[in-house]
Amino acid sequence: MSEPDVAELLSVSQAIAILDAAPAQPWTRRVKISDALGLRIAADLPADRDYPPFIKSLMDGFAVRCADVATVPCDLKLAGEIAAGDASSKSINPGEALAIMTGAPLPSGADGVVPVEFTQKTGPMHVMILQQPKSGKFIAPQGADCRAGEILLRSGELLGPAKLALAASVGASELEVFAAPTVGVLATGNEIVPLDASPSTVQIRNSNNIMLLSLMKRLNCEAHDLGIVRDDPLDIRAAIELGVAGNDVLLVSGGMSMGEYDFVPRILSDLGFDLRITKLRIKPGKPFVFATRGRKFVFGLPGNPVSGFCCTLRLASRLLTRLGGGVIREKWIHATLSTALPANGDREFYQPAIMHDNQLTPLHWKGSADLVTLARANALLVRAEHEPAKSPGDVAKALEIPS
Ligand code: AMP
Ligand code: MG
Repeated sequence: MSEPDVAELLSVSQAIAILDAAPAQPWTRRVKISDALGLRIAADLPADRDYPPFIKSLMDGFAVRCADVATVPCDLKLAGEIAAGDASSKSINPGEALAIMTGAPLPSGADGVVPVEFTQKTGPMHVMILQQPKSGKFIAPQGADCRAGEILLRSGELLGPAKLALAASVGASELEVFAAPTVGVLATGNEIVPLDASPSTVQIRNSNNIMLLSLMKRLNCEAHDLGIVRDDPLDIRAAIELGVAGNDVLLVSGGMSMGEYDFVPRILSDLGFDLRITKLRIKPGKPFVFATRGRKFVFGLPGNPVSGFCCTLRLASRLLTRLGGGVIREKWIHATLSTALPANGDREFYQPAIMHDNQLTPLHWKGSADLVTLARANALLVRAEHEPAKSPGDVAKALEIPS
């Protein structure tokens, strides 16, 4: 088999079009709100009532009628107290004040709150107001935050601490969420050994699985480590079948290119998968595979760690986001280059870089196996095909690397 001409390979944008067109139907389930962190809500969530549900004092102080306090100091009759949680049936008459606590309902008749620090108790039944109240100040009207029925969370939103608190405040003790996509992570290669083995000089530790499992967590997926399989077609076939049966998505690294032992694409085809992408004009990561069979998806990643990392972050992440009920939002960093860059070649190029103070510093490219450089980077500088040389101060774009 000879290598196809680079120009005949798919471009990254063509690959993205294929990935984004693949039908990805997320699964939904109902979970306790305490289990919903990091998941996406699967239905719009309305407010069950107005918030605040009553006219609320925002300060500890005294509820008054502003018209009674035309000048200060002004002595008012103290007619009682309202604490947070007290029923909102109290009222004040002209010339009266009621002690009121933060979060308590404003008594009817009152239209102002004077914070306690601007008052003086002059007797058990009297309070001196020292600052003129403004009507409505330190008071939250009913429905100021939101109205009953207003949609507070939209389907697809990622549930973080604040959004979960909001859901809890409107009574959602359980939530309909999109299930996190399940992803199996499988390494291939006769030379690859587990992390607890001592490798011979020609063996390589399996760093890909922990990298991909961690990336999957960052992408809100439920990842499963499927270990290492040797470069044996029957073993690979069995491992892929098992991985596919137990997961929505399978990530297989290694064995994807044109070598004697690169069996994965052929096996996927034998298993009835449609090979939608087999090679790309991307560097690093040319032998990137995307295969589909019904609701099952396989990503074949190059064995070299930097290649697998770039392809997962830039490409596989798109389908995983949609499978998890999310909407793809590309987050590009635009920043000025601190050093010059040569003209780019005929593939879209992803170069580990450091983004700091709105400046991008490309790190010396030592190839697709260079984990040392990747681990120092916090961004991937992206160069278009045939992009001309760039000078320091030119603007470049990059993808953020999840920490
Ligand atoms: P392959 O894509 O199988 O030809 O592998 C390309 C390079 O990536 C080889 O140098 C492999 O040793 C290396 N490699 C493959 N799989 C892994 C892995 N799981 N962890 C670390 N390196 C790997
Ligand atoms: Mg291999």
